[in-house]
This record gives sequence, structure tokens and C-alpha cells, in this order.
Amino acid sequence: MSFHLFLYAVAAVALWLASLYLHPFGACLRCRGQGHLIRGSKRKPKAVTCPRCKGAARCQRFASKTVHQLARRVRRYRQHQARLTERTPSHADRNL
Ligand SMILES: [Zn+2]
Repeated sequence: MSFHLFLYAVAAVALWLASLYLHPFGACLRCRGQGHLIRGSKRKPKAVTCPRCKGAARCQRFASKTVHQLARRVRRYRQHQARLTERTPSHADRNL
């Protein structure tokens, strides 16, 4: 029972990380994707540009930057390894 729960938790985290990688930007939480806030009194409402997203209405989602940095690091490591295997001569080349 607890093992199944663990599997569901791992699957949920994996889905969350995949969604962060595919959709790094989401609606701004402060202005709820409006791009502006209503300030002032009820009689004189005044629309102010959201200070968090600066009117873009979209913000980078929590931990999406870390996920992309990690993906970039893995990609560079793989390219580096591929370059190393290309450069080192194999045993078949040495015998010639
Ligand atoms: Zn905003």
C-alpha cells in the first residue's frame, strides 16, 4: 500500500517537473494574469501596473529556472562526453 503511494508521489513529481520544463511561465499570482492592480478608493478606482510582472501578466513559475539549468547542465555534460569519445583514438586505430 505504502509502495503504491510512493510510486504515485514519484509520478506526480515527475509530471510537475515535466510541466515546469514545458511551461516555464504561468499567470502572475499577484495580479491573477491581469497585468494591472486596482488601487485607490471605490469611488476612484485606479489601475496600476503590476509591480511583480510589470504589466506582462506572466511570471516565471517556481523552480522552473532550476529545472532548465539542470537540463542544460545534463545536455552539456553529454556533449562533453561525446566529444571526449570522438577525440580518443580507439584500439583498432592504434594497430594500423
Ligand atoms: Zn502581475
